[in-house]
This record gives sequence, structure tokens and C-alpha cells, in this order.
Amino acid sequence: MVSQFSSLENALKHFFGYDQFRPGQKQIINEALNNKDLLVIMPTGGGKSLCFQLPALLKPGLCVVVSPLIALMQDQVDALLDNGIGATFLNSTLNRKELQSRENAILKGKIKLLYVAPERLLNETFLTFLDFLTEKIGLSSFAIDEAHCVSAWGHDFRPEYRQLKTLRFRYSMVPMFALTATATKRVREDIIEQLGLENPTVHLASFDRPNLYYEVQAKSRRSYAQLLNYVRAQEGSGIIYCLSRKNVETIASRLQQDGIDALPYHAGMYDDERAINQTRFIRDDVRIIVATIAFGMGINKPDVRFVVHYDLPRNLESYYQESGRAGRDGESANCALFLSFGDLKRIEYLIDQKSDKKEQKVARQQLRQVIDYAEGTECRRTIILRYFGQQYKGNCDNCDNCKNPKPIEDWTIEAQKFLSCVARCQERFGMSHIIDVLRGSKKKKIEKYGHHLLSTYGIGKERSIAEWKMLGRSLIHQGFVNETTDGFPVLKLNKYSWEIFRNERKVEIAVTESLTSKALNDYNPRKAESDLLLDKLRQLRKHLADQNRIAPYVVFADSSLRLMAQIKPQTIDAFKKISGVTAYKAQQYGDSFVSVIREFCQQQSLPTPLPTASNMITLQLYQQGLTIPEIAERRNLKESTICTHLAELINMNQPIDINRFISEEKKAMIIKCIETIGDGSLTPLKNHLGDDYSYNELRLVRAWYRREKD
Ligand code: ADP
Ligand code: ZN
Repeated sequence: MVSQFSSLENALKHFFGYDQFRPGQKQIINEALNNKDLLVIMPTGGGKSLCFQLPALLKPGLCVVVSPLIALMQDQVDALLDNGIGATFLNSTLNRKELQSRENAILKGKIKLLYVAPERLLNETFLTFLDFLTEKIGLSSFAIDEAHCVSAWGHDFRPEYRQLKTLRFRYSMVPMFALTATATKRVREDIIEQLGLENPTVHLASFDRPNLYYEVQAKSRRSYAQLLNYVRAQEGSGIIYCLSRKNVETIASRLQQDGIDALPYHAGMYDDERAINQTRFIRDDVRIIVATIAFGMGINKPDVRFVVHYDLPRNLESYYQESGRAGRDGESANCALFLSFGDLKRIEYLIDQKSDKKEQKVARQQLRQVIDYAEGTECRRTIILRYFGQQYKGNCDNCDNCKNPKPIEDWTIEAQKFLSCVARCQERFGMSHIIDVLRGSKKKKIEKYGHHLLSTYGIGKERSIAEWKMLGRSLIHQGFVNETTDGFPVLKLNKYSWEIFRNERKVEIAVTESLTSKALNDYNPRKAESDLLLDKLRQLRKHLADQNRIAPYVVFADSSLRLMAQIKPQTIDAFKKISGVTAYKAQQYGDSFVSVIREFCQQQSLPTPLPTASNMITLQLYQQGLTIPEIAERRNLKESTICTHLAELINMNQPIDINRFISEEKKAMIIKCIETIGDGSLTPLKNHLGDDYSYNELRLVRAWYRREKD
């Protein structure tokens, strides 16, 4: 094991606050520590970043991270800084002075992770700087994020990525780490080839995202009302994808009118307007973003709780990427697809307009796969993972088809009526016409063709149009009748149709019941007690995030907040044990969170904690008249820990006189500062007051202030 940690788990807790590795992470990190070249393929939200970040922190030297998007860099660097980790980025948004001061910090060895865009990395001035760095502090590795950008077979080819191979020649001893969420074999091989990875270990993680609930809803006539219902039943942030800009605008403004915080996002808006909406979404100023697929690339928000596709996605791969933006933090999240055959017809029409026959064919095949997914009655996960070449055991218990399997009914007789009507109409008509004939419609078109004289005219009155459509779709889907796709869709019989006529084949279909979603059924307006606390913690998180101008999830993940609401830690020590809380974060935010939790427990008259054993020892030594450094020495603890004890003791109304530790003037200054900028977090106080004031002093005075105020 490298450096001061006894295990990788300890290092994980220290730097990131997590208790356990996600699947694959530990093995990958071990390989990285052995300086192997690596290719890591994990689905979105799998936890790729940590795989190169942790080794970078454990190895000497600098890790250079190549990332294609400025927003992504900014995001990752924010998150690292908030964990007290030395990270920075260099890109075109910085002025000369900023660049200089960052380069200085790098040269002083204060930075472990440096993010750069490929075009900057490869310019000669920067390479010279890297040469210098190699000499001075050494390079620990290159991490190429979104590595599929190197491949023309990927969905986001960037020519600059092609030149990254230069790094391999110029720094042949520095291991290279490539990461992507794109799973196809072709892209994988291309990455290895194009980057010049040497005998790399390839980690292909499972593409299953067990925390995502998949469902498909038949889009009703009143589709907006259906969407509104869905959204009302959801919690937290969500993305609604629409196909057209016009739809995006309409839906966003209707949601606003219905009192739901939503903003639009599409390529037709001005850049700055778009950027503002995106930031407001990431910072939780608004709950919902309604967007075309222009939105998402480079959005790192891990706490998106639901993604709705209000219109059909183009293909299953993009559906998986887009819906996969939900629940990256591993907490449960919902993915819903609204399916309408009207939309389907519109897309088919658009495909028909394409002039390139090959493109047309590919587009049709992709659409077919989306429909297979949406109309399928087996486990949704099984269908998706099969698409990615992965076998899944089935029955995931976390999709609509597994949760509420549609009842299967024998509709052989109806199928015979339907198919014989297709035959009588001489296989020259589409589904709507066939249904009109079956139901004895009085439309002109029927008389025009003399179809009111057919023996099948009016033999299907007992079923509704919707039911006949359901049967028709299912027959097509099961391959029992064909539908032409060139131009106007016409139904054609095939050999299975004939088997059905001859009673050699039964027709069973999955019958759709009413179209309510799982979330709607589970919806419970009453909030449990821990939900109340969770709300308070969320507000605090938002407040602290705004103060520091970062996104709330950077302060703490949803999962950590949930644990706080459950466990209700009332001391800093207990708080530190929560997964996602590092010592650094406890120092930065611990007091604020613990005091909200305490206040909540007092209001609910849950027991307040008595001083812990450790606090009691500090109290005794204090009562013997020892100073803080003396207590620290005696107990072999840090001074900051002793101050935390004292602050907690003050909080519990124990007789601690802080005047023993701080002068009247200093105390007065700190109080004045608290009264102007608030007692939430210590960092702003510290920034304001400067080096003459220590965190320890601030902590003690704040504790005293809070007690006096009550
Ligand atoms: P990816 O890049 O693979 O989409 P990220 O690296 O952004 O995923 O990780 C997604 C989220 O999961 C982040 O919020 C990250 O902090 C969190 N995460 C990563 N590893 C762990 C872990 N071992 N335990 C808990 N959360 C983790
Ligand atoms: Zn399932």
C-alpha cells in the first residue's frame, strides 16, 4: 500500500468520505497503482472519476486529466476542492494572471490533479511546461476522460483527441488511463489503437444501473395532463426531453403556469440564456429542465431524480445515455418513456424523407429497437442490456413490466377477425381502415371501396378502437402480420397469419390496463418525520452552497443527507461517520449540520445527547485549568479536536468560559462579523477576518454566540 493509509478503504474515506468502493473501482485502482495502462468502460454514474482520482492522490507527482468540456472540468474541480483536494484546470476562460498563479501552484506541488482541454495540452508551449514538470515534480499519469471522443465510431468524435497519441511517444513512461461510457467493441478497439495504449487492462463493467426504475407509459390524448401528474408525483430534480424546440417552450411555460419550477433549454436560445438556465438547474434554483437533446452532454449533476422522454428517443443507445443521467449518485431514480403511435408515425415519415437509402435503413432499424423496447412485455432491463450485448437474468423487480406484469389474455378469435379483414381488404390498407371496417364505420372511404359489403364489416363492434389497436400493434410486434414501411403503411399477411386462421397458433397479448405510473400509486402526500428533517438539511445545504457559489450536491450528496436525516448525528464525531463525510467536510460544514439536527431533535423532543466520554475528559482537564494546547498534548489529540469538544460542551450548556481562550477585542470582532455574514459556515468568517484569527477561535466564539442568542 502506498503512502500513509493502511488500506484503500481508509484512503477512500479520507479523501472522499465513502465507506465502500463501487463494483470494479478497487481492482482498477490497484492496477493504476501498479502503473498499468488502463481502459475503463463503465455506464454513466458508475463512478469512473474516482478510479483515476484516488490513485492520483496516492502516487507522487501530478495527474493530467484530459476533458473535452469546460463545464465538466469546472464541475470536477469544484467537487475536489470542496473535499480539500489540490485540483485545478487550465482553459481558455482564464486570464494571464490566473494562468500564472495556477502554474505556480502546480510547480510548488500543491496540485495533484490538473484538468486541461486537449487542444491546450498539445500546444508546444504547454508541452514544454509539461517537460519541465516531469523533471521537477514528475507526472503520475494521464487520464483521458470521455475517451470515445477519439473514435469516429463513437457518438461524439473530436479530431483534437486524435493527436493525444503524441503523449504516448513524448512521455513513454507515464501510464495512461482511458475512460468512457460507450460500450461498443469497435469504439473500444479504436481507443486502444488511437491513444497507443500499451497492453492495457480493459475493465468492462456491467451496464446495469440497478437503481433506475424503467417504465413506459402509453401517451394519452391529454398528454400534458399526464406529464403534469407524473411530475407532481416525483421528488427532486428532473429532466424532461422533447423532440422540438417548440414543444420545449410550450411544456416549460405550461409547467410554470401550473406552479412547477421549470426552465427551457434548447439550441435555439442565446448562449448566455442557456448557460443561466443550466446553472440554475444544477444549483437547485429550479427543479426541472425541459430540454431537447442538446441538453445533457457535460452535465454532471448526480442527483437528478427523474428523466422523462415526452417524445420518442431516436435510438436505444441515446435513450440509455439520456435516461442514464438520472440517479448517478446511486440513489433510486425514475426513467419514464411516453409512447405514442402518432409520434411514431411522424418519425417514420421523417425517415422516409431521407434521401440516402442506407441511412434510411439504419434509422428504421434503430426505431424498431426503440419500439421493441417500448412495446415489449418482458423485463425492460433485459431488453436494454441485451442491446448492449449483455445477458441479464431477467425479472429485475425494478421496472414496470416486472412490478406490474400486464395480464396476458387469449385473443385468438379477435386476431382471426382482424386478419381475415386484412385478407378481405386484399392486403392493401393500413390499420385504421381495417379497424373502421371491423367496427362498421360509416366513413365515406369505406363505401368508396365497397368495404361495407364485406363479410367482416361490423363484426368487431364489441371492442373499442383502442383495443383493436392494441391487438394490431401486438400482432405486428409478435411478427404475426407485417406492416410495410415504404411510404404508406399497409398490413400484409405472412405464414403465421395463416397458421392463426387454421387454428394452429394461439394469439396471446399483454393487455394494458389503466395507464397510471408506479410513482403515482406510491405517492403519499404525508411526510414522515425524517422527511421533515431532510427538508431542513436540504435548505441548509442550498444555503451553504449559495454562499460558496457551488452546486448543492458538491456540499453533500443526497445519500449523505438521507443518512443524516435517519441517523441524526448530534456530535461532530457521529457526523464524521456518515458515508460521504470526510474530516475536511466535517470541519467545514459539520457545525452547521449538527446544530440543525440538534435543533430539530429538541423541537421533536428527541433526547439531546449527554456529553460523550471524550468530551467529559476534555471538560475535566478544562476544569483543572489547563490551556487548549496543554489539553491537546495530554490527550494526544489535535488542538482543533479539543476546540470542537469545547464547542460541543458549550452547545450542551456546560459551564465553559471562552474568555479564558480569547481576548475581549478579538471576541468582539468575531461577533461583529457573525452578525453581518451569519453563523452558518466558518470559511466565510475566516476569509473575512484573515490570518489573525484561527479556526479554533472562530469555532469557540460561534458556539458561545449561538448559545447566547437562544
Ligand atoms: P461517471 O463519471 O462514471 O458517470 P462519476 O465519477 O461522476 O460517474 O460518479 C458518479 C457519482 O457517484 C459521483 O457523485 C461520485 O461522487 C459518486 N461515487 C463514486 N464512487 C463512489 C463510492 N465508492 N461510494 C459512493 N459514491 C460514489
Ligand atoms: Zn424488470
